[in-house]
Amino acid sequence: MEHENEKTVEIRDVTVMRQTDLALLCRIENLHLWIAPSRLQPGSTVARKGDVGTLVLTHRFAVERGLASCGASANAPRRPTSCESLRKDGLACCTPRRHDSRFCFRHDPATANERQTSEARLANSSARRRGKLTQ
Ligand SMILES: [Zn+2]
Repeated sequence: MEHENEKTVEIRDVTVMRQTDLALLCRIENLHLWIAPSRLQPGSTVARKGDVGTLVLTHRFAVERGLASCGASANAPRRPTSCESLRKDGLACCTPRRHDSRFCFRHDPATANERQTSEARLANSSARRRGKLTQ
């Protein structure tokens, strides 16, 4: 709805790997993302295959694509070692990644079972704690 005054995020050292009529395949650190040219905001210096430069995206879009780390601003470098997932509120998860994973413990599908178990254990112990407080 509100398009004016959208917060933007600047991503440096972006390489355009491929180009089609519809989108650019951008390499951002070790990520490859298709981004429609209409997503590029003023200040972007990449536009076609082979370009290396700065990509400016709306903060909202960057968050959707997992590119904005917590509190990302034009001057804040992206933290490549933080989890690529998003939190419930739509902001990037800032928890460090697990080894050999793009996600933190909470968001890694590989640990889903493990996590459920530990969360159940946590819920039990906090319920017990609450019980004590009300007694
Ligand atoms: Zn996470």
